[in-house]
Order: sequence, then structure tokens, then C-alpha cells
Amino acid sequence: MGLSKTIWTNPTEFLRSQNPENPVLFFAPQVVQATARRFLNGFPGLVTYAVKSNPGEEVVENLVAAGIRGFDCASSFEIDLIRRLAPDAAIHYNNPVRSLTEIDHAVARGVRSYSVDSASELAKLIARVPVQGCEISVRFKLPVAGAAYNFGAKFGATAEAAVDLLKTVAKAGFIPSITFHPGTQCTDPNAWGSYIREAAVIARKAVVKIARLNVGGGFPNYRAVGVVPDLEAIFATINRVASESFGADRPALVCEPGRGLCGDAFCVATRVKGFRDHNHVFLNDGIYGSLFEFSQIGIIDRIDVLDPQGNHRTGALHGKIVFGPTCDSVDRLPGDVPLPDDLQEGDYVVFQGMGAYSTVTNSRFNGFGDLARSTVLSLKL
Ligand SMILES: *Cc1c(COP(=O)(O)O)cnc(C)c1O
Repeated sequence: MGLSKTIWTNPTEFLRSQNPENPVLFFAPQVVQATARRFLNGFPGLVTYAVKSNPGEEVVENLVAAGIRGFDCASSFEIDLIRRLAPDAAIHYNNPVRSLTEIDHAVARGVRSYSVDSASELAKLIARVPVQGCEISVRFKLPVAGAAYNFGAKFGATAEAAVDLLKTVAKAGFIPSITFHPGTQCTDPNAWGSYIREAAVIARKAVVKIARLNVGGGFPNYRAVGVVPDLEAIFATINRVASESFGADRPALVCEPGRGLCGDAFCVATRVKGFRDHNHVFLNDGIYGSLFEFSQIGIIDRIDVLDPQGNHRTGALHGKIVFGPTCDSVDRLPGDVPLPDDLQEGDYVVFQGMGAYSTVTNSRFNGFGDLARSTVLSLKL
């Protein structure tokens, strides 16, 4: 069991034998493949992966191996990544604001699906994208609760503006579609229900029969103890409301999960650098590292604490104040983090469900953020 080992049984085996000083990101390919199959079997339409949530090549390769054939890209870099790793996959370019150079790049790479939420951006697409076989999907927003984060704050036309955009798309000869994003880590199936009903109203008002309805991402991953995401309940609501709302005009459905596909396939092991004043814990990773998202949508409390020999700390859990390693005072996890009372300096604090929006937001601020990576058969400690 030396350094040359490339696949470890689980994080515990790695931590106790290597005693890493830097944070370690553990990836379980079997988990991402199983999750992909769960979407492919359960979602009533095309499953695409939102690359931005984790553009790791090992993630994309395992999704392709599991049968994912479509990708939601937001930049020229992501488009090139997918063209290289999955040359035949469908690419949906669903960042609704693009420079002319970016549009030309996508056209040259054979991208045939674009989202839009404003008249000025639609005019750019109409001018640069060949009409033949290309889809333009109108993105709208609703004031809907249920997600951990308000995506409508940046993108999405009002329902009223979406009617006009959809008419313009159809008149210009593109394949007309509608899309929305209910907001990330959305645990309420009714958020999708409300959006789908409104999409049907928009299509009726525009007198346009849409070819596809892209119900976005937002599918939750497992972040809070005991709150296991019920993806199948969300799929069932989407399926039922699509039929009820569109009837005979039901469009083909597309989804573009990021977090829902990759989130639970990774955990991060951080190490306690210092434990002061009985309840101030300093970790070697924080808000400027792979734990950035905690400051946006709250902490993950699926935590295991191991001593350096790999034994579980089993003390009673009490909320502690947890800081990251940088010298910036905002580098603190929000609220109190439940940690065992027998925690000690040198221990490993392992957060599950860390696959999405972690590697991509990890920075090297203050010289930290040197995230090591390891592949494991199982994430169970
Ligand atoms: C970020 C994003 C996604 C993925 O969102 P998740 O909440 O990670 O599923 C999907 N579609 C679009 C357009 C996005 O911007």
C-alpha cells in the first residue's frame, strides 16, 4: 500500500496511511456513474450535464461512460473541453449573454442550441447563427421559492418579454424552445411545476408550438443529514405537469443538472490546524478554497471527524466556530458547525457531497488552496 497506489478503498485508508497536510478531494467514479444512470432511467427526456459545476475531465469521462450524451456549456473553454472529450455529444450553449467572438466560436464548433433572455442578445444570435437545424431557447424567470439561491436575479426574461422573444425566434426560422432554471439546490418539486405551467402559458400566448422545454438544473445533492434528495419525486412532477399543461403539444423535455449529477461523487478532507479557546477551529481549507459555496448556500453538515490514525471521533456534537486558513476575517464558515467535543488539532474533518462548485471556486489566495486529489472505490469512511 505505497505511494504508487492509484485507487484507494476509501478516504480513511488514504488519510491514515498518507497523513496529508493539504486538503484532499476524493472522487468515487462509481457514484457519479450510478447517479447518471439514476437520471437517465428516471428523467422523462434528454439529460445534459451543466459543465460549470465541475469541469473535471474525470467527471466528464465517467458521465460519458455512463451514457450522458449532452452538455450545457457556458463558455468557449467549456465548449472546447466537451468537443475534445465527447466529440459527438450535443452541446447546449446556455449562457444568455455572449460576445460576438464567443458566438462565432460556438458556431464554428457546431453548436446548434442557444438560450436567450433579451432582445439585444437575440438580435446577435439571429445575425450570426445559421438558421438551419438550430434551436433558440427563450429563458424566463418566475418569483418562485424552493431553491437555495435566487438564479432569477441575473438571468431570465419576464414571462411577458418571453412571449415576444419566442415569437421573434419562430419568425426568424429557428427551432423554438423554452428554458428556465429554478435555482440551485432546489428541493421542492413544485418549483418545476410552477415553471412548466407558465412555460405553457408563454407558448400559447406567443402562438408558437415549442419543440423542447429545458427544465434547467437545480436538482439537489445530499447536503444536510437526513435530507436525502428525492430526485424521482421531482422527475414525476415534471412528467405529470408537462402533460397536464401542454396536452397534445407536449414538447420533448431536457434537463441540465450540474450539482445533482456530480455533487455526491466527491468528499473533501480538511485538517484541523489549530483548536483555540474551546470552540474556535481553524481548518486548512475554507471560503477561499473548496468550501466557497458554504458562504452562499450554507454549510454541509454531513461531516465525519477522524483522528490521524483514521479512527472516528465519537464525542457529542456541538456547534463550533470554524475558520479557513487565510488571514481574511471573512474566511469563516457560516453559523456554527456541528463537531465532536473530542476533536483535536491534527484531526481530519471530512465533508461529504462536495463535488459541485468546489474545485472550480478553489483559489490560491494567501498561498493556500493546494488541493490534492485522490480516487476511491467508496466515499464511506
Ligand atoms: C448553473 C446552471 C445549471 C446547473 O445548475 P445546478 O444547480 O448545478 O444543477 C444549469 N443550467 C444553467 C443555465 C446554469 O447556469
